[in-house]
Amino acid sequence: MSNLKLNTVTKSFGKAEVIHGIDLDIHDGEFIVFVGPSGCGKSTLLRMIAGLEDITSGDLFIGERRMNEVQAAKRGVAMVFQSYALYPHLTVRQNMGFGLKVRKEKPDAIARKVDAAAKTLQLETLLERYPRELSGGQRQRVAIGRAIVGDPDVFLFDEPLSNLDAELRVHMRAEIAALHGRLGNTMIYVTHDQIEAMTLADRIVVLRDGLIEQVGTPKELYAHPDNVFVAQFIGSPK
Ligand code: ADP
Ligand code: MG
Repeated sequence: MSNLKLNTVTKSFGKAEVIHGIDLDIHDGEFIVFVGPSGCGKSTLLRMIAGLEDITSGDLFIGERRMNEVQAAKRGVAMVFQSYALYPHLTVRQNMGFGLKVRKEKPDAIARKVDAAAKTLQLETLLERYPRELSGGQRQRVAIGRAIVGDPDVFLFDEPLSNLDAELRVHMRAEIAALHGRLGNTMIYVTHDQIEAMTLADRIVVLRDGLIEQVGTPKELYAHPDNVFVAQFIGSPK
C-alpha cells in the first residue's frame, strides 16, 4: 500500500500542453475515481503515473519515492485497460504470469502467484484456455488477474468495464469493490459511468481540459457541486 502525490504535474505533446499543472494527494488504500469529458486528460494522467508516458514537469511521488525517472516495471503500479490487452497466443495462465516471467521470477513462484490470483478472481477452471475461448467478462477478469499477480501498491484502471454489457458491468463493479476490500490497495479508476463513480469512489476527481475542476467524496460533490459542469457530471440536480 502507498500514498501517491502529484505536485503541479504537466504534460505536453510537442507544443501542445494537455495537462496544465495538477496537484493531488491520494491516501494509502484510497479508491479514487477520475471523471471528465473525453479528451480532458484522464488516460494521460494514468499513463504518466504508470510510467508509460514521461511527465513534462512537476513531480510524482509514490510513498516517499519520487517516481518521475523510475521505469514502469519498478514503480509497483499495475494498469488494467479497457481493451484487456491479453496476448492471444498465450493461455490464461501464461497471460497472468507474463510480467513475472519478464521479471525473471522462478517458475514455481510464478505458478504459486498465478494460482493465488486465479483463486481470488475465480479463474481456476479457466487457466489453460486461450483468450478467444473466454467471454468478455472472463477476459476482463484475466486482465485484472494479470494486474494483481505482481502484488502492486497501486492499481490503475482505465475504463475497464466500458466494453461489457450493462448486466456484466454491474457484476464486475461489485467484484472490483470486493477486490479493493480484500487487497486494500490504492486504486485510481477512470470511468464515464456516473453510477460506477458514485458507488466505487472514496473520492471523485472531476477533470476538465487538463485541470482539476473539483475533488470530493461522492456525497460532497452531489450535495455541493462547485458549478454546473460538476453537477452535470455527478448527476446532481443543481
Ligand atoms: P481522456 O482519456 O480523458 O479521454 P486523453 O488523456 O486520452 O483524454 O487525452 C488528453 C489530450 O491529450 C487530448 O487532447 C488528446 O488528443 C491528447 N493526446 C493524448 N495522447 C496523445 C499523444 N500520444 N500525442 C498527442 N496528443 C495526445
Ligand atoms: Mg481515455
